Amino acid sequence: MLCPYCQSERSQVVDSRTSDGNDTIRRRRQCLSCDQRYTTYERVEMRPVWVVKRDGRKQPYRREKLIEGLAKALQKRDVPLQTIQRKAVEGEQILFRNNVSEVTSSQIGDYMMRVLKDLDGVAYLRFMSVYRDFSSPEDFVSEISKLAADQRVVNPARVEA
Ligand SMILES: [Zn+2]
Repeated sequence: MLCPYCQSERSQVVDSRTSDGNDTIRRRRQCLSCDQRYTTYERVEMRPVWVVKRDGRKQPYRREKLIEGLAKALQKRDVPLQTIQRKAVEGEQILFRNNVSEVTSSQIGDYMMRVLKDLDGVAYLRFMSVYRDFSSPEDFVSEISKLAADQRVVNPARVEA
């Protein structure tokens, strides 16, 4: 592993812990040449799963993208990153069961929708507005009514674009 700052090969691990639902080891390293610190991750290699997009193109599944997508919807909401990471791991267990080699982007989107609906009504609406391509305030209103009908409390005044 080369130091990203000075390309030295010499480093020492100053901290090491598991993350992402215990299947990743995160190591904090300190370069022995320039003293800068950087982070490396070690993870079990999984059989690749492909994400099939709506237009038929495929790309390799990456957990980071799922986490980023959820985190983006949950921006400024009071949900810890740990919860998001756990939901991503749980999602993989659901989406990849039966050893599938492909999932569709809409299966992933639907899973994200369920997670956000569960975690935070505002984040859910924010995500839906992009995912379902909301084009007017009425789209929000109708989705809020559906949420309310699900016995969840959502204050429309707090919805941010
Ligand atoms: Zn260095």
